[in-house]
Amino acid sequence: MTNFVIAKPPVVAIPVVGSDASFPVRRVYCIGRNYAAHAIEMGHDPDREPPFFFQKNPNNLDTSGEFPYPPHSSDVHFEVELSVMLKSGGTNIPIEEALDHVYGYALSLDMTRRDLQGEMKKMGRPWEIGKAFERSAPVGPVHPASEVGHLDHGSITLKVNGELRQEGDLNQMIWKVPEMISYLSEYFELAAGDVIMSGTPSGVGPIAKGDSMEMEVEGIGSMTVVVI
Ligand code: MN
Repeated sequence: MTNFVIAKPPVVAIPVVGSDASFPVRRVYCIGRNYAAHAIEMGHDPDREPPFFFQKNPNNLDTSGEFPYPPHSSDVHFEVELSVMLKSGGTNIPIEEALDHVYGYALSLDMTRRDLQGEMKKMGRPWEIGKAFERSAPVGPVHPASEVGHLDHGSITLKVNGELRQEGDLNQMIWKVPEMISYLSEYFELAAGDVIMSGTPSGVGPIAKGDSMEMEVEGIGSMTVVVI
């Protein structure tokens, strides 16, 4: 039994649907520009270039259903995304074996301080200040793949105050879930507890305090997150 010199930080735990156990989070990987229509709206070529990833912190994931408007930004955007939770990992995982490592799926939001991200892009600097801030990843409960199957198609939408803002289909991902897992595993050692946020369809935009964001992915239901 290890003694720690300070209180041990809590393990981030995401509730699992139909269980009283939770999914513990180790790392959070996020893919950029994974739907062609979103790549175009962000001013980029939608051609299939190699994927790129950034990371959020495990404790940026937040299951409360509330999103506190973060400081130092006046242009905070929603990005609805399917999150993929891994139950195992490794390196150099073949595409055809990748889904064997998936525990389940969850609704999530990659909340972004777009103005700060834009400044960092312009200067060629890392994006963390725009992406990895407190409670920047609202997330719903995990739906085990053993219950819902593997999600490779179906609508993904986000409404703000009841108005449809983002609409896509999981089958529009440029890099499919097994390809993302395989690619990441060539550069990182993936492991149980890793979460992959799989990118957002087009229609991203700003929110304000008081707004209600309702995300829905076919097969795993919906979740509402209120901006406070
Ligand atoms: Mn994103």
